[in-house]
Amino acid sequence: MKGQIVKISSDLCFVNCENNVYPCKSRGIFRKEHITPTVGDYVLFHKDKLIIEKILPRKNIFQRPKVSNIDQAFLIISLKIPDFSLYLLDKFLVLMEMNHVEPIICITKEDLMTKEELEDIWDTLKYYEKIGYTVLSNQELDKIKKLLKGKTSVFTGQTGAGKSTLLNQLNPDWNLETGEVSKALGRGRHTTRVVELFELYDGKVMDTPGFSALEFPQYSKEKIKSAFVEFQKCNCPFSDCSHTKEEECRVKEEVMKKNILESRYLHYLDFIGVD
Ligand code: ZN
Repeated sequence: MKGQIVKISSDLCFVNCENNVYPCKSRGIFRKEHITPTVGDYVLFHKDKLIIEKILPRKNIFQRPKVSNIDQAFLIISLKIPDFSLYLLDKFLVLMEMNHVEPIICITKEDLMTKEELEDIWDTLKYYEKIGYTVLSNQELDKIKKLLKGKTSVFTGQTGAGKSTLLNQLNPDWNLETGEVSKALGRGRHTTRVVELFELYDGKVMDTPGFSALEFPQYSKEKIKSAFVEFQKCNCPFSDCSHTKEEECRVKEEVMKKNILESRYLHYLDFIGVD
């Protein structure tokens, strides 16, 4: 039978299949092949012997926390305290694109902005909608719940943006500690907690904020380039155009014409290490 590993505890993998959870052992052969079963893995298992027989190919895998096959990430972006940062937004978007995770932009703390500030920011966010991203506010809980259906999701974003608060709103049972508060009180926080996927609104959700350790160095310039989705549509005359020094670069043209957000282009240059 086919299922998904939703939790790993000591040497037992808990496999969810049609709303039942089976505590399975993994075959010793995985160790020889250097395959470690991971939360999020889709597996073939024997439901009577309770043994995982095969780990199916992964769409993606992350190390911190260790989890695989993430379909989508809600990028929790604060507008104030911490301040809205297009740099951070682009960084998250690009990292998600490169890992084949669909990003959903979810802004928080709209109430701390003046009407004018908010209008300015939404003007910019409209650009992200135009290039194909879903943008919503953390007040739109019904929309968020609908988006969870049938997907494996994580919530990620800058510290203090309100990830834990949102997760708690979606499932009050979790009662996650908000990291920033406990740090302020000087209590050390355990970062090695077990990752678990929970069933929520017909989807699966990782019960802890994710992807704290993602950085660029491990990705090629080519990969970073292809993560800027709107650059793809520009059809530069040279297919290997790096959109930097080339003369007939359509991306640069579109930036000049303000069809591409200048900050996106500048962040691209920064991410690939060009000044
Ligand atoms: Zn170009």
